[in-house]
Amino acid sequence: MPEGPPTIDPLGLGFDEFVASARREHGLTIPAATEAYKRFFREGATDLPGVVRPLVSPVTRRVTEEGDDGVITKFVTAVPSAPPVPGRCLGAPALAQLDTLAVESVLIPMVGKKGRRTFTLCVSSQVGCAMACGFCETGRMGLVRSLTPGEIVSQWWTATHTLAHPVSNIVFMGMGEPMDNLDNVLAAIAALTDHHGAGFPMSKIVVSTVGRLDGIRRLAEVVRTRPGWKRLNLALSLNAPNDCVRSELMPVNRRWGMGDLRGELLAWPRFGGAKLCFEYVLIPGVNDAPGHAAEVAAFVEPFRTPDGRRTAMVNVIPYNPRRDSPWPAPGEEQVERFVEAVAAHGTFVTRRRTKGRTLMGACGQLGDERIRRRRLVEQGA
Ligand code: SAH
Repeated sequence: MPEGPPTIDPLGLGFDEFVASARREHGLTIPAATEAYKRFFREGATDLPGVVRPLVSPVTRRVTEEGDDGVITKFVTAVPSAPPVPGRCLGAPALAQLDTLAVESVLIPMVGKKGRRTFTLCVSSQVGCAMACGFCETGRMGLVRSLTPGEIVSQWWTATHTLAHPVSNIVFMGMGEPMDNLDNVLAAIAALTDHHGAGFPMSKIVVSTVGRLDGIRRLAEVVRTRPGWKRLNLALSLNAPNDCVRSELMPVNRRWGMGDLRGELLAWPRFGGAKLCFEYVLIPGVNDAPGHAAEVAAFVEPFRTPDGRRTAMVNVIPYNPRRDSPWPAPGEEQVERFVEAVAAHGTFVTRRRTKGRTLMGACGQLGDERIRRRRLVEQGA
């Protein structure tokens, strides 16, 4: 493969890192590097000095669907099947010749306080996922590879500048387990929140985890110690009322159980009025009994400030049946009943409307059909 001249990709880099490297290794002046970084992130400019070559992953598919608050857009971008070598920019033509992988992202509309429409961007941190949760479409693929910081930030850049959707929230609830790719997720968040560039507010970012305790500990340390990180939000995909059900649904629970998780999360450096979020995928006949609602409420009960105010909430997500699912989707009344049963204990509980069910863009439904097919063949061989 022909090697291009050494170039620098600003996508996954913070401002200081970009400027230092652009100056030392690529001969740019500080003002020229500063200008390129700002214009690329803030205006979406691509007419940059020749050595600055952003590796924006090309959009290969775009699907839209009408939701409650407007049009939901799922977009798919292509990344090379092996991560790119830093400083060696391939560019779109070379990328087209490579075997590529699909990265899925979803833009979910929200109508804000002043009636303005903004979007929550659901980003992927990996292609596939190693966590193998029984209800999750992505989990069926296995882990294909982790995304680089640039490939994560590229999803925001594309949503904002190519698709021109104003993104007000970023949630790591697309494909992958962020704690399984924590270094790159941290670097991506650092780039996204850099004031010289994208300047995305830390308080509007949510990292959602399956419950990898080692990762939660590391992230807590970063949030506690790194300047500018204290407002980062955490969500735990609880999905079960007790260890027995959780270990059945989520293999990770056999390593780190709910008691350990709760202990660690009680120590999470929550900031101000922000609440920890426990997501709960409601699956009929599995985790939706009245007794389960009581167990969930009891699990969340100790999350309080010293003066007794609640510091956690439960977000009930109606299960979207994955392909070949043994379980159905819950009916509207089943969801209502469960939400009310949890709320009866005084727990804060919200429910997510099912968004994007038909375009397979709902959380936990992101997967690449080609890869699934390949795996099926491998397994059958
Ligand atoms: N690995 C991370 C983020 C990806 S999953 C995590 O586990 O949090 C994002 C959310 O979608 C999680 O709360 C997950 O429990 C939920 N989810 C997964 N499969 C789903 C499905 N089939 N229907 C509804 N929600 C699902």
